[in-house]
Amino acid sequence: MIPLARPDITEKEKQAVLAVLDSNQLSLGPKLNEFEDKMAAYAGTQYAIACNSGTSGLHMIIAALGIKDGDEVITTSFSFISSSNCMLFERAKPVFVDIDEKTYNLDTAQIEEKITARTKAILPVHVFGQPANMNDIRRIALKHGLAIIEDSCEAIGAEWNGKKAGTMSNAGVFAFYPNKQMTTGEGGVVVTNNENLAKLCYSLRNQGRGIDSQWLNHVRLGYNYRISDISCALGIAQLERIDEILAKRQRAADLYMEKLKDVEGVILPIVDERAKMSWFVFVIRFEPWIDRNLVMQTLLKRGIGCRPYFTAIHLQPFYREMFGYKEGDLPVTEHVASGTLAIPFFNNITEEQIDRVVAEVKRAIGYAAIPDSEARLKRRYELGVASDHAVVR
Ligand SMILES: *Cc1c(COP(=O)(O)O)cnc(C)c1O
Repeated sequence: MIPLARPDITEKEKQAVLAVLDSNQLSLGPKLNEFEDKMAAYAGTQYAIACNSGTSGLHMIIAALGIKDGDEVITTSFSFISSSNCMLFERAKPVFVDIDEKTYNLDTAQIEEKITARTKAILPVHVFGQPANMNDIRRIALKHGLAIIEDSCEAIGAEWNGKKAGTMSNAGVFAFYPNKQMTTGEGGVVVTNNENLAKLCYSLRNQGRGIDSQWLNHVRLGYNYRISDISCALGIAQLERIDEILAKRQRAADLYMEKLKDVEGVILPIVDERAKMSWFVFVIRFEPWIDRNLVMQTLLKRGIGCRPYFTAIHLQPFYREMFGYKEGDLPVTEHVASGTLAIPFFNNITEEQIDRVVAEVKRAIGYAAIPDSEARLKRRYELGVASDHAVVR
């Protein structure tokens, strides 16, 4: 069995966690401050507010920006559900813009037509670790007086035009669930240069306590979004190795790119020349003449972890119910989402494992090709390929 993801925890990380357990300060202790200082230094922002998940980080920013009932936020449907749920927590409405078929990020050319008098912000997601086009997003936000919230939960260390993901907006969020580039078990961090926003996040994280932090003085509706010092200690040790971690993932991505580049029917990730990728997952896409779900079932049976990334948010049952979204609303998002598959990808994946995954993908395509489908014949014609070698039914 080759898993889809696997955390990379060294002896140093284990020792760091054990030291906290011996310290008698399991929450709101010195490891929290140290983690926040080091995250801010890494991102190059003035403030970092650590919390118990990426989702809580996103929610705190929405709340701190005063986004509320009836407000609209422009975002993408090709994402993990929490990048939109964070608005619903404040009864604001996500307004979806379709994506670019190459990068899978927001198609910035379609943003302006979705802006209304109720629009308060744009929330781009740096999908799979590739930054969205922040030049366009910043220009549009400035022109219309909108805030920007970067969902950088998949993109720690990524860059756009030499600037770090998460730092090109009012605030950004990184997330540390075990399948992310670095982990704290569960956790997240808000990064920002805005003092007022940072202060509000500290308060929202800790039950709405006033900034003086008097224990039973609550000045606003807050939450328990605190992260333990145990998690912070793990995060500090992981952050110390972040360059090594990202380099290992780059190597794995390079190997997949090389070994899959001539496989008929597989569309590989495309990275914009202005972007520096921080590889979160490795997602391939199948051309329409390949039944993605059948590939997935075949791979799973053969012990290869895989999962469709993502299922469009606007077609999730409760989004359909709440907002009346339906098939056809976001054609590119839906087309891309029907063909994508994340394959095993983690820091210490070996070349042998990658070879096995590639061999299994090729084999599965043989089973899952829809022979003589119109799309396939057209593709073959374009490629000048005559033989049906991929079909081994
Ligand atoms: C991981 C992730 C989050 C946050 O997830 P948590 O599990 O709450 O930490 C948010 N947005 C995206 C796009 C993500 O991939």
